[in-house]
Amino acid sequence: MTKRVAIVGAGVSGLACARELAHQGHEVVVFEKSRGPGGRMPTRWLNRDVSPPLGFDHGTQYFQASTPAFVHLIEQAQSAGAVAPWAGLVVNLAYGVSSPHASNTTRLVGTPGMASLGRFMAHGLDVRLQCRVAGVARIDGQYQLTLHLADGTVRVESGFDAVACAIPAEQVVPLFEAVHPPLASLAAGIQSNVTWSVMLTPREVVKVDFDGAFVVDSPLGWICRDSSKPGRAMGDRWMLQATADWSRQHQDYAPEEVGKMLMDVFSNVTGQLVEEPLSVTAHRWLYSLPSNPVGVPCYFSEEHMLGACGDWLTGARVEDAFLSGHTLGNQLLNALDTTLIQ
Ligand SMILES: Cc1cc2nc3c(=O)[nH]c(=O)nc-3n(C[C@H](O)[C@H](O)[C@H](O)COP(=O)(O)OP(=O)(O)OC[C@H]3O[C@@H](n4cnc5c(N)ncnc54)[C@H](O)[C@@H]3O)c2cc1C
Repeated sequence: MTKRVAIVGAGVSGLACARELAHQGHEVVVFEKSRGPGGRMPTRWLNRDVSPPLGFDHGTQYFQASTPAFVHLIEQAQSAGAVAPWAGLVVNLAYGVSSPHASNTTRLVGTPGMASLGRFMAHGLDVRLQCRVAGVARIDGQYQLTLHLADGTVRVESGFDAVACAIPAEQVVPLFEAVHPPLASLAAGIQSNVTWSVMLTPREVVKVDFDGAFVVDSPLGWICRDSSKPGRAMGDRWMLQATADWSRQHQDYAPEEVGKMLMDVFSNVTGQLVEEPLSVTAHRWLYSLPSNPVGVPCYFSEEHMLGACGDWLTGARVEDAFLSGHTLGNQLLNALDTTLIQ
């Protein structure tokens, strides 16, 4: 018999969970507070009216796929043109000197921007965008969600047999502490790093012999020629990511100030003076990566038909988040005593 399941959050984990349930014929509704699916795998578009569109991957930089379920999804996404390998040269950069970064991994990216994987995963699902879940209640064995919509209205949606929570740990706590305290207290033990990301379009091409670098002993932990990724628009565009320590220390600085500071660091570490850039925009991720994930695939209470998935449970990577959602989807399927509808 078809059951109705609400999923809070359309990041990779929530979408992975939704796909498992929807493929078995359940009625799944995914509620997402932002304007697009994908969560921390976004693209900041500067101009979508050009081909290819012009944007920055200001969250996830690249991801890997090694487990069968994720490899299978990525093969499908690759066939659809939503994902491609990035063959950029990645180095370690210490005090201006680059050395090979020992890794034979295949680095994957969304095309023409990182957000494409989320869009691909969301295809065919009922995803309600700009719909923030502000309250969850259980009444007579069924869940009721209070929703805040983009136009300022509040709506209540009822009749869900189960709920899956797929949002960062810090956001789980206020939303679930009344309806399911064990989940809220598990999430309360997690701390996420802050990350400042800077999107930089220099006036002149930055003349370095690499496309991505793990920077040593610097406020910057990672720099990447975003425009070297497959399917991107022409030009020279760089993503700069500060370390967790630097980002925490400068958490409350104004974005303009952070942009300027990290651009100066970029000039120092690359030995290329960047002056009067065409654009420099800083974005602060308040909950970027969980520093102490629980270390379990997902959380699930069969008694309450309520689960949680996401990188804060498994590990701080896209593939971990996917596996968490995939596992929760399967646990929910078993508990819902599925009848295939096909
Ligand atoms: C700067 C940065 C760089 C990273 N780099 C990499 C990398 O190079 N490689 C890698 O593998 N991983 C990287 N990661 C980590 C990776 O992005 C995450 O592990 C993964 O995307 C987490 O997915 P998720 O589904 O668990 O959560 P999220 O992607 O955070 O999804 C949660 C979703 O829930 C929504 N939401 C939250 N609250 C509500 C609510 N109340 N109602 C409705 N919707 C809500 C959010 O808007 C979001 O879309 C990076 C992350 C950041 C921030």
